[in-house]
Amino acid sequence: MNPNSDAEASTSLAAWSSRLGPALQTLRQGIHEACRSAGRSDSDVRLVAVSKKQPAVAVAAALRLGQQDFGENYAQELRDKHAELGHPAGDPLPSPPRWHFIGPLQRNKVNLVVGRVALIHSVDNLALVAALGERVNRLRQTAPELTLATLVQDCLVQVNVGDEAQKSGCHPAELPAILDAIAAQSGQLVCRGLMCIPPAVDSADLAAVRPYFAQLRRLRDEQQAVRRAHVELSELSMGMSQDYAAAIAEGATLIRVGTALFGAR
Ligand SMILES: *Cc1c(COP(=O)(O)O)cnc(C)c1O
Repeated sequence: MNPNSDAEASTSLAAWSSRLGPALQTLRQGIHEACRSAGRSDSDVRLVAVSKKQPAVAVAAALRLGQQDFGENYAQELRDKHAELGHPAGDPLPSPPRWHFIGPLQRNKVNLVVGRVALIHSVDNLALVAALGERVNRLRQTAPELTLATLVQDCLVQVNVGDEAQKSGCHPAELPAILDAIAAQSGQLVCRGLMCIPPAVDSADLAAVRPYFAQLRRLRDEQQAVRRAHVELSELSMGMSQDYAAAIAEGATLIRVGTALFGAR
């Protein structure tokens, strides 16, 4: 984070606002057009503004422009921004951000994430399901606040649709077992859908990436036919700055956009 003085910080709020206003408008127009050509309604697609490596003041500026959902990749950075923006004092923000955790999640970092985010997009192994369930139980038992005493952590299962060696996400064949494990818990986690990051393809060639989005939707449709407790697969988190239009065409309900909104990281 920048070691800015208060004066510089407020200038930078104004600077971020004048930059993000047009960027948000352009993006919303792009989403609108993608929805229209897919015969979908704008309200079917939620924009998650990916604020990783961007300062908290950028999130504050976007919030004031009406953006509600924000995605973070790193557990400590999430904790810090959550603390800075989550409980506004003095001049209150319009409402606190709705945080999404979208990065790879290690078991020893679940404490920083559970209870702070509306949705964890990146659940991809059985050990992580167990660790998340334990963390929810612990928060419920020791909660000073009512909101934590009744905590249910919503999540998505991330699938490695390109079957790439170094990518996070479960293999498609592992998906049923992970959903079974969520179902077998006593409701600490609720699975709301699936997430993917397709292999990097030529950004100009949206046709090349579409089959991966279609694959995630098919996997969702297959698993939706299986009845499980605590599993309700209505969400598809797919599409980033370069390819969100293709993702919307294939049924995305959550798109995760960083660069096209905040600029380069
Ligand atoms: C960084 C990131 C994004 C945003 O990518 P952009 O290309 O900047 O839009 C989306 N999803 C995940 C999982 C990311 O790590």
